[in-house]
Amino acid sequence: MKPLLQNLAEMTAHRDHLRLEVSVLSTLAQQGRNVNVRALEIFVHRGETLLRPRSWSTAEGRIVSSDCDPIEDTQAVALAQLPELAQCIAREGKSAERIGPDGRHTLWLPVWLGDRAHACLEITQPKRLTRHQRDVITGVFLVYQNYQSLLDYSERDALTGLLNRKTFEEQFTRQPPVAAEAVGEDTPGNWLAAVDIDHFKRVNDRFGHLYGDEVLILVANQLRTLFRSQDRIFRFGGEEFVVLLRAATLAQARGALERLRASVEAHAFPQIGGITVSIGFAAAHGGAPVEILGRADQALYYAKENGRNQVRFYGDLVESGQLRARVAHDEVELF
Ligand code: GH3
Ligand code: MG
Ligand code: MG
Repeated sequence: MKPLLQNLAEMTAHRDHLRLEVSVLSTLAQQGRNVNVRALEIFVHRGETLLRPRSWSTAEGRIVSSDCDPIEDTQAVALAQLPELAQCIAREGKSAERIGPDGRHTLWLPVWLGDRAHACLEITQPKRLTRHQRDVITGVFLVYQNYQSLLDYSERDALTGLLNRKTFEEQFTRQPPVAAEAVGEDTPGNWLAAVDIDHFKRVNDRFGHLYGDEVLILVANQLRTLFRSQDRIFRFGGEEFVVLLRAATLAQARGALERLRASVEAHAFPQIGGITVSIGFAAAHGGAPVEILGRADQALYYAKENGRNQVRFYGDLVESGQLRARVAHDEVELF
């Protein structure tokens, strides 16, 4: 068994949520004999709260993770099937316990971010937890939560709470490019959309910066409500947002973005009235990240030049000859 402080030092060396989770599980698994640990992701699908194991300890004592789309995870179960945990979450509690039919003791520790439990750590062992085990587990868990909220804070934009540009660059720009051919027709695709508020400068000029900020917050809220938890939403700069969208087909991606456009148009912003957005999007594969972003930007620029308040797909524009596919060396100049 490794010394606890060494475990904590390793845990807080991570700058990535999943690695941090694996590390905390590994620390917790070492706090007794025959201890099983899991991190359960909590998500809502079609109005029902579900749990799915995201990381867990194996029989050999390793910690493994599954990074699939929660909605497609066949291991997912309804929170209602674990009544002790469900009650704990309903009263925004800190922990829940149960003795299973097999006599094993389970301790659940929900991970709260604001008023939402987005995950839960689960510790199971044959015997009841000792006082000492409990103290250590609670201590490790507190360090984990504090560190996680720091990590979360550094990844987000202070005004809207969306992921920031630095996070986009870390997550998207640094991932290796996937060739278009490697993505099959029926594999769920990723799409990258650039969303920009139309004539936003006018809002600031007419109503002041504070109203402008309010509009940014409301648009960010619409983005959050309209997209699924697997879609990643970033505030890219002033009044520009980037969405990394998971959708099986082009039609679905277009549909989701069109819903966003229509929803912003239909929203009555207090005092200001109507606002619109222009959106350009491209497939998020078949090129370096910087090229993909450049394509979405070109489609956005086209939407701006051609009347705003519209969604444009880069592939369509190239196919119809409205945009010329840029050769690679041009692309560099864009950035
Ligand atoms: P277009 O339709 O072509 O996109 O026009 P636009 O006015 O939206 O675009 P432009 O890029 O000319 O202006 C963007 C404005 O966004 C300018 C800047 O003052 C404002 N802005 C950037 N960041 C913030 C912010 O955090 N809060 C507020 N209130 N305004 C911001
Ligand atoms: Mg704008
Ligand atoms: Mg802009």
